[in-house]
Amino acid sequence: MAVRFDVITLFPELFAPFQTIGVTRRAFDSKAVDLRLWPLRDFAEGVYRRVDDRPFGGGPGMVMLVEPLVRALQAIRADQQAQGGERLPVVLFSPAGRPLTQSRVESLASSPGAVLLCGRYEGVDQRFIDAYVDEELSMGDYVLSGGELPALTLIDAVARLQPGVLHDAASHEQDSFSDGLLDCPHFSRPEVLTLPEGSEAAVPPVLMSGHHGRIAQWRREQQLRITAQRRPDLIEAARARGELSQQDEHFLSDLGL
Ligand code: SAH
Repeated sequence: MAVRFDVITLFPELFAPFQTIGVTRRAFDSKAVDLRLWPLRDFAEGVYRRVDDRPFGGGPGMVMLVEPLVRALQAIRADQQAQGGERLPVVLFSPAGRPLTQSRVESLASSPGAVLLCGRYEGVDQRFIDAYVDEELSMGDYVLSGGELPALTLIDAVARLQPGVLHDAASHEQDSFSDGLLDCPHFSRPEVLTLPEGSEAAVPPVLMSGHHGRIAQWRREQQLRITAQRRPDLIEAARARGELSQQDEHFLSDLGL
């Protein structure tokens, strides 16, 4: 079943090129991801088609008006119903949201989809959020000028999980976070690299051994080492979920981590 995203945005043109490139293109071509754009300006009224206004109480910047957003959402609801689809939850991108994680991406990837609201200016009038928004998602502790890149980020992360998008179905199972740990390092040809400065860099010998068991163990250990060094919080979380074996724990304690 397709994952449907209805995107409310002031800049629909940002989404077009993205659907024609890279591996994720397959998800759109095959309709595994059904992306529908709802230009907010189309739902604005008056000569100036206003979608924003000054904030009550004063202060800098503009606020996205409730009424065009309500009309856009009504049009989306009508279209979802006409297609016989479900009433999809409304996601707002906001620095105040819950940080997006791979597990949330995975749950969205196997869901019917969502309405994605891309904020602009200082953000959205709180009354729209209170009445219609089901979930707020953040891309991290920094501020962007709009919710379009967050929406594209989420759509990309969901698209690459659709069956048939990555050549090797096992590929995303090895990615960072899918087992709660960061990814291991990767190497390809040449086996011994000579850098322009003259130094040589060889591939870790275990990867050339042809011994699948030892290679798998080495990769697991690299994941544990990198995650423990860079993101000890992820090690704690994996431990709390009971996902670290005794062998993993021995390796970590030998490292002194
Ligand atoms: N005044 C807001 C920032 C508004 S930025 C504040 O201080 O929190 C304009 C829009 O960009 C937001 O409405 C949101 O949709 C989007 N945006 C900016 N940073 C984001 C982030 N880290 N995560 C998700 N969306 C973000």
